[in-house]
Amino acid sequence: MLYIDSISKGIVIDHIKAGYGFSIFKYLGLEKADFTVALIMNVPSRKFGRKDLIKIENNIDIDLAMLGFIDPNITVNIIQDEKIIDKINLSLPEKVEGIIQCKNPRCVTSNERDIVHKFTLIDEEKGIYKCEYCDQIYSWEG
Ligand SMILES: [Zn+2]
Repeated sequence: MLYIDSISKGIVIDHIKAGYGFSIFKYLGLEKADFTVALIMNVPSRKFGRKDLIKIENNIDIDLAMLGFIDPNITVNIIQDEKIIDKINLSLPEKVEGIIQCKNPRCVTSNERDIVHKFTLIDEEKGIYKCEYCDQIYSWEG
């Protein structure tokens, strides 16, 4: 296995579904980072077979709700002095705003552009969301 130096301070995004690391890397804008970042792909994992991993040698703000919506199985580790001081297990967020669009042509969000699309999680197991304005269903497919 590839040897990667452990980081002293920063964030490790773990348990990313294999193949999704690059899009999360890009979503977080890490290709433009001026600090040390590493995207490690296809790491053997007991839990998932293969996984991707992102190491960030910096404390950056991450939208955990958005990340949980992209992949609820992700774990975010906060590192300080080379130790994990916090481990955050993501899940599908209760509410998502401005991420997915309501497909109902009669919904108020389809007619008025200034309204933020808002969805509420109604079934966590199946990943089903409901539009807050018209009750249109959105199904999460990860
Ligand atoms: Zn709607």
